[in-house]
Amino acid sequence: MAFYDAGRKAVYLNPGVAPVEAAQAAVDNFATSNWSSPDPHHVLLHEFGHFNHHLAIGDLGFRAAIKRGSVPWSDEPMIMREVGAYAATSNGNFVAEVFAGRCVGRKFPSAVTRLYSQLGGP
Ligand SMILES: [Zn+2]
Repeated sequence: MAFYDAGRKAVYLNPGVAPVEAAQAAVDNFATSNWSSPDPHHVLLHEFGHFNHHLAIGDLGFRAAIKRGSVPWSDEPMIMREVGAYAATSNGNFVAEVFAGRCVGRKFPSAVTRLYSQLGGP
């Protein structure tokens, strides 16, 4: 569907994925508490979240944030419950998932917005 290339600071789109497939993936991943929104543009918003986060915190911070397992274990249950399972895979994915959710009007509890700010979320 789409991905963020941190080396080039570019979001790439896969034109081989039909919009209807992307929309269904968002509905399915939201229904299973994996993604933070069911919006048809969810993946694109998530990748723009990475891009804006990268611009906000710089190369070193972003490299650390996208490492798998960078989410403190003590925050994982809250993140999985309030944002989604994918958000708990790294600090970078947490920020990108909250960013995507906010773009479509989702409100998050203060524990989420506090962590988002601490991580330099845009
Ligand atoms: Zn991501």
